[in-house]
Amino acid sequence: MPAEILENCIFCKIASKEVKSRIIKETGSFIVIKDVNPVAPVHFLIISKKHYASVNDIDEGFNGEEVFKTIKELAKEYKVDEKGFRVVINTNNDGGQTVMHLHIHFMAGKTFGWPPG
Ligand code: AMP
Ligand code: ZN
Repeated sequence: MPAEILENCIFCKIASKEVKSRIIKETGSFIVIKDVNPVAPVHFLIISKKHYASVNDIDEGFNGEEVFKTIKELAKEYKVDEKGFRVVINTNNDGGQTVMHLHIHFMAGKTFGWPPG
């Protein structure tokens, strides 16, 4: 098992395909899946293949450019680039993070309010 895969981490298992899921998109460093409990008509998770518990743990190997490229592609492919979308990274307790494996929420198909509450 590669060092970056944590044994009891659900997103490590999904990213390494040990647990089956419908992968929407795959890049060198990320996979994109549908959120199992969507809060918007379009709700994807961009999941790092390498295990980082949160943004606090990312290192020089983290490909931020690829994240933004993936966001841009998703927006175009799902035709929400013009109307808009929201990207969120919940981090630790105050950020509302529940799965301790870095992931980026991509949400669209509704009008989000601000502040988020
Ligand atoms: P958070 O850690 O708060 O940023 O959110 C974790 C998100 O992962 C939630 O929106 C869950 O609905 C979603 N989630 C948890 N387990 C799975 C899974 N097995 N497949 C897809 N989405 C999941
Ligand atoms: Zn993990």
